[in-house]
Amino acid sequence: MSYFSTRGNECVTASQAILAGMAKDGGLYVPAMFPLVSMDDLEKMISMSYEERAFRVLSAYLEDYPVQEIRDSISAAYGNGHFQDPRIAPLKRLDDSTHVLELFHGPTLAFKDMALQLLPQLMTRSARMNGENREIAILVATSGDTGKAALEGFRNVPGTSCTVFYPLDGVSEVQQLQMTTTDGNNTHVIAVKGNFDDAQTGVKALFASREFAQDMDAMGRVLSSANSINFGRLLPQIVYYFSAYADLLAAGAISCGESINFVVPTGNFGDILAGYYARNMGLPINKLICASNRNDVLTEFFATGIYSVHRMFYKTTSPSMDILVSSNLERLLYESADRDGELVKVWMRQLRECGSYSVGDQRREWMESVFAAGCSDDGDTAVEIRDVFTQYEYLMDPHTAVASKVLRDYRMKTGDDKVTVIVSTASPYKFAPDVAAALQGKNAVKHLDAFACAQILNSVSGRPIPPQVEKLKELPVRHTAVCEKDVDSMGKAVRNAFAE
Ligand SMILES: *Cc1c(COP(=O)(O)O)cnc(C)c1O
Repeated sequence: MSYFSTRGNECVTASQAILAGMAKDGGLYVPAMFPLVSMDDLEKMISMSYEERAFRVLSAYLEDYPVQEIRDSISAAYGNGHFQDPRIAPLKRLDDSTHVLELFHGPTLAFKDMALQLLPQLMTRSARMNGENREIAILVATSGDTGKAALEGFRNVPGTSCTVFYPLDGVSEVQQLQMTTTDGNNTHVIAVKGNFDDAQTGVKALFASREFAQDMDAMGRVLSSANSINFGRLLPQIVYYFSAYADLLAAGAISCGESINFVVPTGNFGDILAGYYARNMGLPINKLICASNRNDVLTEFFATGIYSVHRMFYKTTSPSMDILVSSNLERLLYESADRDGELVKVWMRQLRECGSYSVGDQRREWMESVFAAGCSDDGDTAVEIRDVFTQYEYLMDPHTAVASKVLRDYRMKTGDDKVTVIVSTASPYKFAPDVAAALQGKNAVKHLDAFACAQILNSVSGRPIPPQVEKLKELPVRHTAVCEKDVDSMGKAVRNAFAE
């Protein structure tokens, strides 16, 4: 299968798309078509392991990879005990119509592991298949979770390095420690004096800079991306939508063919886009509900058809969703424009030059037939964490709770009572102070650090504290670099890191 750029006619193979990360014209790679999965295939998935389900989905997209290489990649990612739950993405029942898909059992306790444990496997094989002998230098901008997940995925992987930019003062204590304590012979972590959008804009500019690419080439390096603009990040995420459906079938919670909803806590629009791709492949999805925090640019977009970044940026208790420019929306725009790359190019230019674009009523209505959207501020999210715990004795992290609250509002507004899966993207222990404050009040945790708050959560819920969190207390901080948010400073920081 070929892959096209969202901004033009560039056409490459799967392995080339994954190796490059982003198209030369600045667009994102999308598959030429969506391979269909039949009801029969879905029923067969019931008895499959997560790895087998992954193979079924991945092999349909990775046509130029030898079958054995796909199998080996999958077992290196999901079969090596890196995930604490052997089911990889377990589904937990809250009530008959509400289930939680837990995607946080990987090494960094957030759903990014689902893709970033697999991406290095796919990428190093792509390099070999395409005769790429230079070191693959991964550059990542992170709102908190991608950074650590990429560092874990690429740490000590021969032929690669991983350099992460995170917003200084924009991530949680645990997130920051997770990154700055990373070991490995090929990892670099740099704090940017700005917010996530600054970091992401800078990294995109480095990718677009010919001079920077030449510098890297002179050092024997070639740049690639582990952000969700890389199709290799999206692909592994399609799998768990199928897996959740198969688990609902296995539990007798739905009948085959019955359509369900997913509510997805959304930042860069990668996770929910994977759900949309699953739907295009034939998975019976009624609505994909896009949940945002106070940075509700997507809620506004689905309501008005206008995407505008002329708005305040807020720091919230769900930092991985503190984003104003959702990169992956470009892939949905491309479908909404009937795959007209020229039109996407116009919108993206308007976004760059004027900070906004409008898709018009017809396309907005088309999107509305698949997507619903809503938002929840920090106050409502904290109440949701407490209410869900009181009602179900289930502990949610703030990102998941945003989704849960948006689902509550959606059901009130629409009366839609279809079975719905809440996509849970992080462990509550990754954001222990905010979760503990939601349960016991801000005053109760005022002077406590993340570790003391984790103790509270443990005694209240009985959920064991993940060893990754316990361990952070003892690990030495290895990365202390800080840089300004302009692209020159960021480029210099990368060169310094490589010169170390
Ligand atoms: C990255 C992340 C999100 C947002 O996912 P997108 O693919 O960027 O929409 C939500 N929750 C958590 C915990 C995350 O790490």
